[in-house]
Amino acid sequence: MKLSTPVSAIPFVGDVYAKRLLKLNITTVGDLIHHYPSRYDDLSDIRPIFSVQPGETVTISGKIVSIKNDMTKFRKQIQRAVIEDETGSIEAVWFNQPYLAQSLKKDEMANFSGRVSQFGFKRSLQSPEYEVVKPNVRTIHTGRIVPVYPETYGVSSKWLRSRIAPLLHEIKYNLSEFIPDEIIKRYELIDFLTAIFHIHFPDSKEMQMQARERLAFNELFLIQLSSQLRKKTWQKEVTGTQLRIKNYELRIKEFINKLPFKLTLAQQRAIDDIVTDLENDHPMNRLLQGDVGSGKTIVAAVASYVTYLNGYTTVFMAPTEILAQQHHSSLSRLFAPYDIPVEIVTSTTKKKFEEKKSNSASPRIIVGTHALLFQDHIDKIALVIIDEQHRFGVAQRTKLREMGIYPHLLSMTATPIPRSVALIVHSELELSYIDEMPLGRKRVKTWLVPNEKREKAYQWIKSEIQRTTAERRNQAFIICPLIEESEHETMKSVKSAKVEYEKLQHQVFTDLSVTLIHGKMKAAEKQKVLDDFAAGESDILVATPVVEVGIDIPNATIIMIEAAERFGLSQLHQLRGRVGRSQKQSYCLLFTESESETSIKRLKSLETVYNGAQLSEIDLMMRGPGQLYGTRQHGFSTFKIARFNDHILINRAKEAAIWILENKSPLPPRLQNELQPYIIQSVNPD
Ligand code: ADP
Ligand code: MG
Repeated sequence: MKLSTPVSAIPFVGDVYAKRLLKLNITTVGDLIHHYPSRYDDLSDIRPIFSVQPGETVTISGKIVSIKNDMTKFRKQIQRAVIEDETGSIEAVWFNQPYLAQSLKKDEMANFSGRVSQFGFKRSLQSPEYEVVKPNVRTIHTGRIVPVYPETYGVSSKWLRSRIAPLLHEIKYNLSEFIPDEIIKRYELIDFLTAIFHIHFPDSKEMQMQARERLAFNELFLIQLSSQLRKKTWQKEVTGTQLRIKNYELRIKEFINKLPFKLTLAQQRAIDDIVTDLENDHPMNRLLQGDVGSGKTIVAAVASYVTYLNGYTTVFMAPTEILAQQHHSSLSRLFAPYDIPVEIVTSTTKKKFEEKKSNSASPRIIVGTHALLFQDHIDKIALVIIDEQHRFGVAQRTKLREMGIYPHLLSMTATPIPRSVALIVHSELELSYIDEMPLGRKRVKTWLVPNEKREKAYQWIKSEIQRTTAERRNQAFIICPLIEESEHETMKSVKSAKVEYEKLQHQVFTDLSVTLIHGKMKAAEKQKVLDDFAAGESDILVATPVVEVGIDIPNATIIMIEAAERFGLSQLHQLRGRVGRSQKQSYCLLFTESESETSIKRLKSLETVYNGAQLSEIDLMMRGPGQLYGTRQHGFSTFKIARFNDHILINRAKEAAIWILENKSPLPPRLQNELQPYIIQSVNPD
């Protein structure tokens, strides 16, 4: 039997169980071996029969004195056994398990685990787990620390234990060590085979913990190794477009000095990081992380300027057409005094772009959406900036390589992730943080509003809008509930947004102008709605949650979010970043139908915490990594056993991965083998 053998080949599995196991994502022997327990029951304490008390859950071990099928007064089947050890005897009772009288035989030795009850003076064990004890065979269901597995219909933990225990012995020669001795010794890990045995059937709590640590290390180490390998390959690449900064230092300074504001220290630091990378002849691979409104665009603009001065083109990729339009107009404004051409490529502007391509050899800045930019060859690209789609970084990089292009890559994201997660998810990237907001920004006042105050909230929004003058009128976003968790807009969400919009316009805000935007609208339509809203032609914009409202509308001072519990805190933080973009005080009103205490506590943290990174830590703690924005796309929510809060282990895994690449080249074949699935996973982020 091999690890790749289908489970149906295992004795007592067959096609019926193979089908059931599919629900647990188990198709091979290897999958079954790596189906780790979710918890353990400690049934290791075998008690003398005389000592057990009513109400206790205990394990006893003794000889079966008698076993028989009976009928109750109400004609129910009942099975009774009497068990005896040196200290006394006790009765065990089951209902409706007639086959028991065949599996348990008189005079056999067996263990029983269950709850003790008492009728009159008579103690009895109620429907205990039982297991026949044979000489020299270790028990697996009783009398030890017993694994409890993730189960599915028709697949119980008992069934899994009965299959896995013999399988471990059958397959042990296929579980040889694959991590070099030096690493095992250095981090005091137990060996692979021992870990697999003890994760299923631990001899002690101590061994179970060591097994967990070793197997979690496996996962983290293999992930780190795959990304370090990628990083190493990338570091060997040469850009062919080495940029020089020295000759242009003065002009760069001037450019920065002419900005209408002073850069924050954090922005300055990020620029320094990037400029240093640009001078290198190896391609930059940097992630710039900073809250909404922290000023990432200007950092990217400086990098584009440096690139332009060197005679090269920058490609600036935005996740949506609307954002591309916005970047295009703000960059155009910024670069107009320097006569730097800024062009845009979207599905609507593509034609124009193609016509212009004749003189495409001159350096410029091209803004566009993702898909389009790869369809044509663009000359002299030295820098690619990816806004808010960093998870596509690897794939895009690969695509660019296929086109023979080795530019510097700068990804930008406002989606903060906890440091421990960044260490795993972004371990091949260099990281820059903008952890400081421009001076003078007011915090968006945030409240979780109880539902009975909904009407009052509507009234308040109305008065906030109406108290301002027509020219500089306050405006509001209302974000509809997230109906289905999907990255793309679903018809269901659109429908519910339409209903919400009708209600708000015709029943609530009758004197105000309300407009609607959703993802199923055509790009031009969306653009028109947004332009009108930006021009102050409507007061309230009702939007579906996934539609990109990442636009600068300085007059927007209120955002109201429905069914807030369905979002991660970082997403809510990003949404509230849509307001508070001017000197005016802004407000975020959260609504929830949820009455769960944790859910409310989680949402309330937005009232006091204004830092995206900190909110992401709270999300990780309270919702777990599966819900963490961005991790699912990486497949990292499918950790089998490692956890994102294994800080020490994460660091060790990274250290070990770096060490092994420096010291063991080529990698040992067993290790390469184990690494395979991780490499495939990381090249296909979606
Ligand atoms: P984000 O990081 O969300 O992409 P932007 O780059 O869009 O943020 O910047 C948000 C706004 O803040 C823009 O209007 C920008 O001009 C302005 N801004 C950027 N840096 C500063 C600064 N240092 N001081 C004041 N305003 C700034
Ligand atoms: Mg931005």
